[in-house]
Amino acid sequence: MKLKVKVAALQRRAADLQEQAERLGAAGQVKQRAVSDRSRCTGCGLCEELCPLGAIRVTYVANIDAERCAGCGICVENCPQGAIHLVSTETTPATGPKNA
Ligand code: SF4
Ligand code: SF4
Repeated sequence: MKLKVKVAALQRRAADLQEQAERLGAAGQVKQRAVSDRSRCTGCGLCEELCPLGAIRVTYVANIDAERCAGCGICVENCPQGAIHLVSTETTPATGPKNA
């Protein structure tokens, strides 16, 4: 029950962040993006459920679409394994592999 309440609260927060993330992306102001650590990911799917931009798909492990990610950080804050972190879009361009 507690987990359901937490997920519902996080979903509301994700919805709030969606507008902000879309605005940043549209303005080309994305300064950071999420990268997953496949060695730590357990494939629980929480990040996929929470990402306001639908940038994460979990197939055994989390796969993050660098082109869609706006760097809001909600996946980083809520991953129970600490398996996602943010990187600078300047030092780590979105081209190439989508994940580390
Ligand atoms: S929340 Fe963390 S552990 Fe769960 S699927 Fe996403 S990256 Fe993996
Ligand atoms: S930081 Fe995470 S939750 Fe936010 S847009 Fe990128 S992948 Fe989605």
